[in-house]
Amino acid sequence: TRPTPCHAKDLFDSTLGLYEGRLRNCNIKVDLRSNAGTSIECFEGDIRQVLSNLVGNAIDAMPQGGRLILAAREATDILSGRRGIRFTIADTGVGISRATSARIFDAFFTTKGHSGTGLGLWISADIIQRHGGTLRLRSSQSPEHHGTVFTLFLPFGLGDG
Ligand code: ADP
Ligand code: MG
Repeated sequence: TRPTPCHAKDLFDSTLGLYEGRLRNCNIKVDLRSNAGTSIECFEGDIRQVLSNLVGNAIDAMPQGGRLILAAREATDILSGRRGIRFTIADTGVGISRATSARIFDAFFTTKGHSGTGLGLWISADIIQRHGGTLRLRSSQSPEHHGTVFTLFLPFGLGDG
């Protein structure tokens, strides 16, 4: 298989479609910020898998409701200087402690007991690495301002750099 052009908006829309019921039941408001024209060459099925895991994790973190923010815009990766698309997947959920955040990309690490596999972020990190991209997070558990922001950068020139 070869990478194909994918629109960020379509990637988000198909991901949200998977979770329509849960978003409604959990009283989660979605804030979608993506220009229709923003597109990237990628392995679409793989990137959909990454986004569906990130959004699924965000929903899991907001059992009492909250806000899910999805954004995509052209950006320059500060470390490499490459141009690409920066996706942001943010939630107002429980957040991730510093100790936990050191382990979330490990295979089989989960805090969800039997309902989690602990494989989502492990697989996601591998997919993003194969795209020459990066996946980073910041999170807060303070009572006033809690939640998690995942930032996914995919370079335009797939695999180069
Ligand atoms: P799983 O979803 O099966 O637990 P993942 O690899 O997708 O496995 O995630 C690993 C762990 O990372 C989760 O169990 C959870 O503790 C933590 N995590 C990931 N995303 C979030 C988030 N948005 N908010 C809070 N915790 C998160
Ligand atoms: Mg998961």
